[in-house]
Amino acid sequence: MKKSLSFLPVFMLLVFPFILPAISQADASPTLVDYIFCNGNIITIDETNPLVQAIAIEDGLIIGLGSTETILQDFATENDTTYDLDGRTIMPGIIDGHTHYMASLFWLGDTSNIYDAQTLALANGYTTLNEKSIDAGELAWIQEAEQNDQLRLRVNAFLIYNYAWLENNESVLVGHWQPDLIPIIDNELKLRIPGFKIYSDGAFGNRGFPAMSIPYTQEMIDTWGIINPYGDLYFNQTELNSIVDSIHDRGFCVALHSMGDRSTETVLNAIEYALNGSTNDDARHQIEHSSFIREDLISHAISINSIHSVRGYFPTYWQEYYADHYSDERAEWYVNRYSLPGLGIHSYLETDFTWNNYDEDDWSSSRNIRPFLHLWGLVTRKAIDENGTIHTPDPWVAEHEISVEMALRMMTIEGAYAVKQEDYIGSLEVGKYADLIVIDDDPMTMNPDNLKDINVLLTMVGGKIEFQLSSHTFPTPYTNGTSRTSSVLWISLFTLFTSMTVIQRRRKKK
Ligand SMILES: [Zn+2]
Repeated sequence: MKKSLSFLPVFMLLVFPFILPAISQADASPTLVDYIFCNGNIITIDETNPLVQAIAIEDGLIIGLGSTETILQDFATENDTTYDLDGRTIMPGIIDGHTHYMASLFWLGDTSNIYDAQTLALANGYTTLNEKSIDAGELAWIQEAEQNDQLRLRVNAFLIYNYAWLENNESVLVGHWQPDLIPIIDNELKLRIPGFKIYSDGAFGNRGFPAMSIPYTQEMIDTWGIINPYGDLYFNQTELNSIVDSIHDRGFCVALHSMGDRSTETVLNAIEYALNGSTNDDARHQIEHSSFIREDLISHAISINSIHSVRGYFPTYWQEYYADHYSDERAEWYVNRYSLPGLGIHSYLETDFTWNNYDEDDWSSSRNIRPFLHLWGLVTRKAIDENGTIHTPDPWVAEHEISVEMALRMMTIEGAYAVKQEDYIGSLEVGKYADLIVIDDDPMTMNPDNLKDINVLLTMVGGKIEFQLSSHTFPTPYTNGTSRTSSVLWISLFTLFTSMTVIQRRRKKK
């Protein structure tokens, strides 16, 4: 009798390591993951599963999405990395479909600390930058950063084909690209090279002027110093057809700067020529700005499925000037770009940000880095002038409406589509990269007038937290029943303790 009783605690100690996993198994043991965010409002931008409460992240990828209960049943973390969103919102990381963030750092000669220089973009919630015009020096610098593991967000580099100005009325080609250069579109790389950037017309000032089908007025010609009354087209139709065609044949997509309607007409024709009957869903050729776009060009765009950038933040504070100086027709063309997403045309957010004109306190520049200022602009078409006054759009500026949902797509999945990454980033779905942001308000339900004031609390790129707002307490670990593993542990210890007590009592009885 005595012998068998003394054996019991030893037996328990021996089998304990085996009981624990056995109990966990019986309890459909949760998979250990790197991060869980739960109790939140997660906007996935996935139409089949638009809103969830919790997300699990493992090895850089999204591994689970669902209710807080299901996710905590299926997954667990070590090291207190199950975070309680406490109702806060998560959305996919923001993709700037047209920026000069990296390139303009290089222009300024500020190349010493590329790692720290990315913090501003990360703090604003960007996880991918589509860089629209990269030269060989800039490319080498970003490539070096990638090799040294210094790239903290994704960069899609569009190599510059010609410069953004004319010399002696002629376009200037960038001659330094090797003819055997091929696209780099591996989704595991932070730096990809999907296409070339071509400047098709002017952009005001020393770059010449947008190429229009109607002449600039004498007043505009005098005020702005316009030389060609119809603006400046950098290539004629035959030249542009041949350029786009040869780039297309090498497997690159083209991103064409095109502001004036005459330029966009030429550009659409050139894309159609290069596609030669094939779909743009394979090629992903895209048009930057579309600043003055005619109705017939919109129909052409729909028919060839071209992709368009849309500046989020319109300078509504100049609407009276435009109304006074533009014909009704030209004014109409100027805001037509805001009808593109509603017509089913692939449209992505462009900020066209450069560091050259960056001012931390400026809320007026239409090339502002703040993505939620652009969201506010897309949805309300309101704008803040240099004195801080908010301008409400007149009917002709407000007429093409963009919903919050559509604008959020432009800031995420559409930017991914433009570089053929829609299966990897741009929405929160199982198997996609964990590129996400935690924000302090819900754009879908809040008053649209406050969209511009949304703050980014945390930015994660490929499952790695790259930014946290230091003035904020988030993230806080989830505490309600810390994890399934620990409850199993407590049950096991309790069982062991009870067995020991029973043994002790039996011993005392004897
Ligand atoms: Zn640009």
